[in-house]
Amino acid sequence: MKPVLLFDVDLTLFNTEKFKAAYPKSIASHFKISHDQFLIIGNEYRASLKKHTDYNISDYLKSISKRFNLPLYELKQICFSPENFACLYPDTLPTLSILSSKYRLGIFSEGFKIFQTTKLKLSGIYHLFNPELIYIFRRKTTSASLAKLPRNSTIIDDNLKVIESLLASKLTSSRNLKPIWLNRQNHPVHPGVHSINSLTSLTT
Ligand SMILES: [Mg+2]
Repeated sequence: MKPVLLFDVDLTLFNTEKFKAAYPKSIASHFKISHDQFLIIGNEYRASLKKHTDYNISDYLKSISKRFNLPLYELKQICFSPENFACLYPDTLPTLSILSSKYRLGIFSEGFKIFQTTKLKLSGIYHLFNPELIYIFRRKTTSASLAKLPRNSTIIDDNLKVIESLLASKLTSSRNLKPIWLNRQNHPVHPGVHSINSLTSLTT
């Protein structure tokens, strides 16, 4: 059986910052509303969240719909147009394509399942993952979540807090989970964990 690689989604495969800049622009220009006003509402919404992974785009669009009296259906249509999801990092698709012949690819992500899955589908990489290996949790580093991951999986994540939670969890050693920190920011390498600066390092 091929070994399993589990990828985080946001800021690992998918440039979420680019997406968060793209879709308000497309909505603002479609409905001819002020982009600045739109951003203020976005910031208010983000400030109301406990964690950035609590971001629920449906709730956000509902608040936009109310505030500007815009039809929710049309807002969703504009927001979920594939152009807004063209936010993969340049190394994402080439690397996954190469890895998919040697590994079984999966996802280990935190957030809302439907939104995370939509990012994978509309950015064109969903087909590269094994549906049985898509793990999306509301809180992913809890023991209950980690206990569901296949033994001997390698986990690639950009978030140092996630990596440190993995290193601190007993389940990481008992299930032989192998974290890799993807540090796209060129921060110093982590002394206790394999660190890479680009996904392409996984193919060498
Ligand atoms: Mg991430």
